[in-house]
Amino acid sequence: MPTDPTAPCPCGDNSHYADCCQPLHLGQPAPTAGRLMRSRYSAYVLGLIDYLVATTLPAQQSQLDRQAMEQWSRESRWLGLQVTEEDPTSGNAARTQVAFVVRWAEGNGSEHSHLECSDFCRLGERWYFIDPNHPVTARRNDPCPCGSGRKFKQCCRY
Ligand SMILES: [Zn+2]
Ligand SMILES: [Zn+2]
Repeated sequence: MPTDPTAPCPCGDNSHYADCCQPLHLGQPAPTAGRLMRSRYSAYVLGLIDYLVATTLPAQQSQLDRQAMEQWSRESRWLGLQVTEEDPTSGNAARTQVAFVVRWAEGNGSEHSHLECSDFCRLGERWYFIDPNHPVTARRNDPCPCGSGRKFKQCCRY
């Protein structure tokens, strides 16, 4: 757990941790999916597995492999995050995507750079990451299992 509030935030936003991802890590809702994305990256850097679980779609949380997340967090050397694209209307949307590049190195030193596009769903005032490894299933017109009250096809369907 990071303790120096004047340290730069691991998400690379050029802000102090205390003004950037820390309030989110302490429970404040992320105002946009992009902010949630950044705070999840910081959580990986800092080993905040509880936060990573809590910000995954509630319907998926019981399926997450905490040990694997912890290992991934600990054994990677995190080299940076760049959010490349965010839907500007995402503040009001129920479902959105964020494109980003994440760079990291494995324990053996090999470096990776990965362009990804993640999906996020808003339930009430909170954004959640939709984990593509644990697809939520339902029929197209049924209420989405995530609990949003929307139809599945308009919500967490992949
Ligand atoms: Zn941050
Ligand atoms: Zn949903």
